[in-house]
Formats: sequence, structure tokens, C-alpha cells
Amino acid sequence: MAISIQFLGAAGCVTGSQFLVDIGPRRVLVDCGMFQGSPDEMERNAMPFAYDASRLDAVLLTHAHLDHCGRLPALTRAGYRGPIHATSATVDLAEIVLRDSAKLQVEWAERWNRHHAPKEAAGSNGATASAGGETDDETLPQRLRSAAPEGRTEARQPLYDEHDVDRTVEQMRGCDYGETVNVTDGVTATFHDAGHILGSAIIELSVTDGDARLTIVFSGDLGRSDTPILRDPTPLSHADYLLIESTYGNREHDDHDRAVEELATAINEVAHDHGVLLVPSFAIGRTQEVVWVLDGLVREGRIPRVPLYLDSPMASRATHVYYDHPEVYDEETRELLRAGDSPLRYPGQQFTDTVEESKAIRYANRPIIVVASSGMLTGGRIMHHLKDFLPDPNCTLLFIGYQGEGTLGRHIQNGAKTARIDGTEVNVRCRVRSISGFSAHADEHELEAWLARFGASGPGSNGRPRTVFIVHGDPDAAEAFAARARGELGMSVHVPAHREIVSLT
Ligand SMILES: [Zn+2]
Ligand SMILES: [Zn+2]
Repeated sequence: MAISIQFLGAAGCVTGSQFLVDIGPRRVLVDCGMFQGSPDEMERNAMPFAYDASRLDAVLLTHAHLDHCGRLPALTRAGYRGPIHATSATVDLAEIVLRDSAKLQVEWAERWNRHHAPKEAAGSNGATASAGGETDDETLPQRLRSAAPEGRTEARQPLYDEHDVDRTVEQMRGCDYGETVNVTDGVTATFHDAGHILGSAIIELSVTDGDARLTIVFSGDLGRSDTPILRDPTPLSHADYLLIESTYGNREHDDHDRAVEELATAINEVAHDHGVLLVPSFAIGRTQEVVWVLDGLVREGRIPRVPLYLDSPMASRATHVYYDHPEVYDEETRELLRAGDSPLRYPGQQFTDTVEESKAIRYANRPIIVVASSGMLTGGRIMHHLKDFLPDPNCTLLFIGYQGEGTLGRHIQNGAKTARIDGTEVNVRCRVRSISGFSAHADEHELEAWLARFGASGPGSNGRPRTVFIVHGDPDAAEAFAARARGELGMSVHVPAHREIVSLT
């Protein structure tokens, strides 16, 4: 049985997850994500696929974050007509994410063409935030940036549009956790809980050829244990080959309980001062987790019932998908539902649909909590709230997610006294706080604990992977985690390079 795997993304970096498994004449793709984070990535995302899209047999999707699903409509545009398997919750969330992304792609192309054609290109300075949709990923700057190489003046096409998304959505096939899906001749896939965002999965791919059977496990993005709403990542114990993410392969997170405590303190402070707690948040996952935590804090009497504005249309849509999939909740959340509580609905929460409603929040009776995106202050509705609340000493800006290098979020988090917003200089007089315990990714200890289960019955036991591939991490994080897996667990480890092909036999 000749099997190989090619690392077409998330190798040497965090984004662009894409792995091609070649099994004789059959080809299966796992994830088809966008590269994100630097102005050059638009070029990278627009490059042709490394294979003939029309000749793929199947696509498997781990979860709905853009760095895992973002290029699927481009794959469809390139001629892929087969099934895209994912959990049912991922199918619903991916539709929201891809429609938003298509809108951004079209706006980006229009803006580029308006600025650059027919005159000579002046060379963009990058970092132009879009006023349009919201993208969602917790590890990187959100906005697509105009990246115009000097001298290029031909009109740009969007990577895809809403029609490509329509077709992609038609090709999606939802499954349940634990269900074994027939992928193609002799190939099956089982989706297990990854505990990262709603619907996120670890994929166990099994290839059978006569009596021979080979199992390749893709960790996808692994969540933390004991976080709200979702079940913990499923512990698996057997793989012939394993791909594991390493986003936080060299970092340790704060404890979740401490994060909850810090959130309660921040709310009590603004409640006392009749101020505003402004929380930049990512639409999918983080927002729903914060609502769940706030509901618990009110129930336990640890905070007063401060009104909450959920000011992000994408977060509202994602929240409704969370409501639609109680089958994936963890035992704690089910128990609360059985007891008559609604843990995903904070008492006094309000969704704001229109920009006018959003702007009217400044006149609301205080204290209030406002959750708005984007999570790194790179665009979106949070921008007009910043103008209102940054200069106000009774307000708190609370970061609960990673702030990427070069973003406005990082600038303010680092203690800047002024911030430039839509061309206006704004003084930062509010309190600025950061909580690190709400990450949706496992840290170095949690990654190691999950990995240690493979072949845990001892060296030479047959669950132990022949090779562990470390992916989805910046080089420092991937190398640090590789050293840990070799040293602490004695595993055979490889950190693949971009586009590297490895044969698995
Ligand atoms: Zn993710
Ligand atoms: Zn990811």
C-alpha cells in the first residue's frame, strides 16, 4: 500500500491548514484553510492548488475557522465537485464564516481595482482595515489587507464569491461525533470531539488494503480541558501516524478559574463606577463562552446583572448555531439545561443588528458590558466604541484573546497612551486589562497530555505513532513542542516543511 501525505499549509506557520493524503489512485484532502496574518497572504491564497481539484475523491474538514475552511469555495471554483465531510455543527458554522469571507473577498477586489486601475499602482502600504464583514480566527489579525506589489495594475478577481459558497455548502455532508463515514474505496473517517469550537473535530482516517490497515490521526485544533459548553478533546490511544497542532507548543495558559475571577473583578469595577466594560471578541467560540461564564457569575451572585450588548452580527448568527446544536454540549451544560437554566443566554443580553443600533449604545444607561469584534481591534464595530470609551476613566477595555503583532490591540495592550482610529488621535484614559485564561487552544502541558495517551501502555505497544508530525505552529512553538515530544515521551517526531511530501508505509 503506497500512501503519502503532502503538507500544503500550516507547516512552518499557524494558518492555511491543508493536507493531501495520496492513497494509490485515491486522493483525500484534510482542511483547505486560508493563510492569514501578513499583507502577502492574499497572494499566497490566490495561488493555484498544488493538485487537480477535480480529481480529489473527498475533502474532510476539522472545524469552521477560516484558517481551516477558508479556501473551500476556491476549491469548488477550481472544479472540485465531491463531498466535504464535517460534523453537522461545523457545516452550519462554516456557512456563516464562508459567506462573510466571500463578502470580504469581493469588497477587497473592488477596492483594489478602484485604487489601482487604470492609473499606475502607487504601492499600497498594506494594513487597510475593511469596513465590511468580520473574519474569525483567534490567532491572527483579522482583516484582509490590500497587498499590491508595486507596478501590478491588472484588475483583481475575488478569490471567490457568494455563488461559489452556495455550491460549497451544497457539497457539505454533516455527520455526528463518533460516526464512521465512508470517504472513498477502502477509506473511512471518524470525527471525535476536539473541544476547540462548536463542531470542532479530531479526524481519525483509516485506510484498508486487503489485510493491511493504516490509521492517520489529524488533531485539528485542540481545545482545553474543562472549558464551558464543549466536551474535552477525546483521548485517543492508537495511530500509525499523527499530525498534531502546536499553536501554544511553547506556552502555558493561566488557569480557567482564575480567568473567571478576573472577569468578575472587571465587571464589579465598572458596575461600581457606572462605566462600560468593552470586550473585543472573536465571533465564534469566545463570545459564546463569555456569555456562558457571565450567566454563571450572575447565577452565583458574584456579579450584578449588568446589561450586555452583543454587538456583532456574525457573533449573533454563530450564537444561534450554538443554540441549534445541544447534542454536542458537555455534561455540565446539559445539566444546567435540565435544571431549567439557559446557560447560553445571559439575562439581559441584547443583540444589536444595525450599525445605528450599535452606535446608539453610547447613550445607554450605564453600567453596561459591550462585546464587539474584531478581537484584535483591526476593524469592525469595535472601532466606534473605542472612540467613545478609550478616553473615559470609568471604562475598561478588557482583552480576552491573543493580540497579534502589529495590531492596534497589541499597541494598546502594551500601554500606548494614544491610539489612532479612523485617522483621529484618541487618548487612552480607560483601564486596560488582559485575561489569558480563555484560550480555545490547548497549551504545552495539555498538548503533551493528549499526545501521551498514544501507546501509553508502554514502548513498542502498537498504539504508538511511527511518526508524529508537528504542524500548525510558528517555528519556535513547533520546535519546542517537538523537543518535548521526543524528550518527555520518546516519540519519533518530524516537523514538516511547507509542501514537503512524506511517504507513509
Ligand atoms: Zn481553530
Ligand atoms: Zn487553526
